[in-house]
Amino acid sequence: MPTKKPQGTEDLIASGERTYQQLMNLAYEVFGTYGYEPIETPLFERIDLFVRGIGESTDVVGKEMFHVLASEPYRRLSAEGTQPDAKHHLALRPEGTASVVRAVIEHNLLPQGGTPVKLMYAGPMFRAERPQRGRLREFHQFGVECLGATAPSADAEVIIMLMRFFGRAGIPRDSIRLLINSMGDDACRPAYRESVSAYMRAHADELCDDCKRRIETNPLRAFDCKNPDCRAVMHSAPLISDALCDGCSEHYAAVKGYLDRAGITYEEDPRLVRGLDYYTNTVFEVQVIDGLGAQNAIGGGGRYDKLMESLGGKSTPGLGFAIGYERLVLALEAAGVPLGEGGGIQAYVAKVDSSCDAAAFQVMQALRDAGIRADCDHQGRSLKSQFKVAGKSGAAAVVVCGPDELAAGEVTVRAMDTHEEQRVAFGQVPQAVSALIGK
Ligand code: AMP
Repeated sequence: MPTKKPQGTEDLIASGERTYQQLMNLAYEVFGTYGYEPIETPLFERIDLFVRGIGESTDVVGKEMFHVLASEPYRRLSAEGTQPDAKHHLALRPEGTASVVRAVIEHNLLPQGGTPVKLMYAGPMFRAERPQRGRLREFHQFGVECLGATAPSADAEVIIMLMRFFGRAGIPRDSIRLLINSMGDDACRPAYRESVSAYMRAHADELCDDCKRRIETNPLRAFDCKNPDCRAVMHSAPLISDALCDGCSEHYAAVKGYLDRAGITYEEDPRLVRGLDYYTNTVFEVQVIDGLGAQNAIGGGGRYDKLMESLGGKSTPGLGFAIGYERLVLALEAAGVPLGEGGGIQAYVAKVDSSCDAAAFQVMQALRDAGIRADCDHQGRSLKSQFKVAGKSGAAAVVVCGPDELAAGEVTVRAMDTHEEQRVAFGQVPQAVSALIGK
């Protein structure tokens, strides 16, 4: 039925949407203290941006992308089988990094010799995955990208910032773990990758079909395979920690030094490879220890020193992370953190009869001008029924406008919890209501 939302999507309504806004604001507040500026990029981009940026052999690009075509290229594809040219072949963004890097190149946000550009974003991402708890087809991320910084202090800074956000959001530190690893660079990763391929080739019989294919296309992704046989094989595969070149070892040691001095505890996981092709050197992931099952990663990221160049920009180091909003909410709910508070009306303006409509309207304007969330009846309900509505609404105060009170230039203000009533001069209503709602 067209009245059902597509599989793997969610409607965020009232407190649900408020939770999203509040956590996004918190993310922007925390990231802002580290010098990040907001950016918003289109929800769809040319498909080749993601193919080149994220990597053809990744699941995200190979299996999970939503292709977008305008009606004419779509008609030609379905009627004549004519493939759309790259310019007209679009995709819903599966992640934010490629788009942000594209924008940095397009707008030359990082001129030669410029200081690093730090950008933060929030919004929906789209991946055609099999939906389950914590895994959606449209989900939301809060992310940052820092371009132009080479030093290990930059890696440590983004990791510390990520942990700081989770702390501020209310995730108990002992309910999550921070995993870190180095994935090497052009100097050491090719040989390491080859050693993993060779190892997998020798164990090909024991691997799933996907991992058999990965031997040639993307062997490191096999570390992420959930198949128990593949996991057993990959458990004994060569480790990147034994294969890092001197430069990568030094960088990694320096990142750990900064984390240690900042009092950030972490676990080193030499099998942490992360799903996207563009990572080099430091990678990290934050996982919820209990309760989220296989979808336990609530955020992750790393360094991607080759991405900008591979998208046609000049060679520029970069790093960033993304937080998964929906999984963050699951983790906050599990921790008993109240979410989405601060909604609903605070004052209800009730009218004894229709002769009071105009005055009630005026009272309501005054309440709203004072920043109080107020509402009244627009359906001609009886006073009794208005009180019922007020009770259900959760309003802390009801302002009763009756002909007698109005004749004296007053209204009655009633506290909903104690039922105490007071007569208040017309001009003093916002103050009296503020006192009741503790504003
Ligand atoms: P990634 O862009 O794959 O590094 O993912 C970053 C974060 O986004 C993950 O740690 C998850 O929290 C979240 N995430 C990724 N894919 C999904 C999905 N399909 N549904 C919900 N959250 C997701």
